Amino acid sequence: MYLATLKLVNFRNYLQEELSFHRGINIFTGLNAQGKTNLLEAIYYLAVSRSFRTNREADLLRFGSEYFSLKGTFQKKGESSRVGIEYRLPRRLQVRCNGKALKRAEYIYRQPIVVFSPDDLLLVKEGPAIRRRFLDMEGSRLKPLYYRRLRDYHRALQQRNRILKEKRGSSAAARSLLEPWDLALARWGSVIIRERTKMLAALESRAGFHFATLTAGKEMLTLRYLPTIKFDGDPDLLEGAFLEQLRKGYTAEIRRGSTMFGPHLDDFAMLIDGRDARKYGSQGQQRSVVLALKIGEVDLFKKAGGEETILLLDDVLSEFDEKRSAHLLQFLRSRAGQSFITTASPSWAAEQRWSGGAQVYNISRGKVKID
Ligand code: ATP
Ligand code: MG
Repeated sequence: MYLATLKLVNFRNYLQEELSFHRGINIFTGLNAQGKTNLLEAIYYLAVSRSFRTNREADLLRFGSEYFSLKGTFQKKGESSRVGIEYRLPRRLQVRCNGKALKRAEYIYRQPIVVFSPDDLLLVKEGPAIRRRFLDMEGSRLKPLYYRRLRDYHRALQQRNRILKEKRGSSAAARSLLEPWDLALARWGSVIIRERTKMLAALESRAGFHFATLTAGKEMLTLRYLPTIKFDGDPDLLEGAFLEQLRKGYTAEIRRGSTMFGPHLDDFAMLIDGRDARKYGSQGQQRSVVLALKIGEVDLFKKAGGEETILLLDDVLSEFDEKRSAHLLQFLRSRAGQSFITTASPSWAAEQRWSGGAQVYNISRGKVKID
């Protein structure tokens, strides 16, 4: 799939712009604060009806505007689909695909797209919540079943936590009330843990490959799921172990008033040559890990849906040395899918244009010119 055209009205610092894109590599160049990231954001928003930078639509309105609109044409295996998204204050969002109005929940995740922005480095640097969110987002996009189980699990978790809070201190009464929620938690929770483990294994194999390429085979990436439920690795025994651990933990949980075990507290580690990238990785290494994860995701989408994925890379080249940049570029050139990449370095952009297969766009104050 690729994005052929895009029209923006009142989106961030864009007043009105109409663009058409290359089906291979598109490079957005320009000085700082001119609208490069905003343009990537518009492309992402058109594809999933969400931003990767904010959850508030109002932030996307050009200062002082009442509405914004994005329209574009995606080409998929010879077919084209026209998508239009409009947001209007106070809070009306309209999504249309080939003239048909869709709910956001129906539209979201239809178009395979992956973005890598500097904020994604938090995936390595920060605490576990952001990594769980990554697993849950990717899981939901790859498998509708994952999304449903996650919802079931969180509903059960809420109920269980409410009982633990209300009964804080009196353990006997809580036990019988908790029983049915323990069963639900263990059941849905085990599905989530199994799916996450499978997903990480698939991702490790793809991301590991890209990481090895990026580092010219000198470094190895492994991913390890870190469950709060202790079980000996046999997935069939997981549900039993989950239940057992919940039962053993009653007293402490009642004292604390919340559920202390389960996938809502799990994490995963990214290891470079066996060492935790979070603690020991350099800036460039951490960036390479996240990039490898993101490109690995592209492969997983391709495997799941057969479609080529649009890849957005915001400011990736800063902090990569020449070798890593060259490998990345080679990857972009060799892939069949469309890529968008931003850079503040015009000379780098010009070089890419001369070597072919790339279109360069110059962005200045919300105006885009083909270079
Ligand atoms: P850099 O190279 O520094 O990353 P950039 O070209 O990616 O720069 P953007 O993040 O796209 O820059 O932002 C460009 C400008 O858009 C900023 O100066 C910002 O103030 C402005 N901007 C952000 N949100 C809005 C908005 N809602 N309305 C109007 N302008 C906005
Ligand atoms: Mg930017």
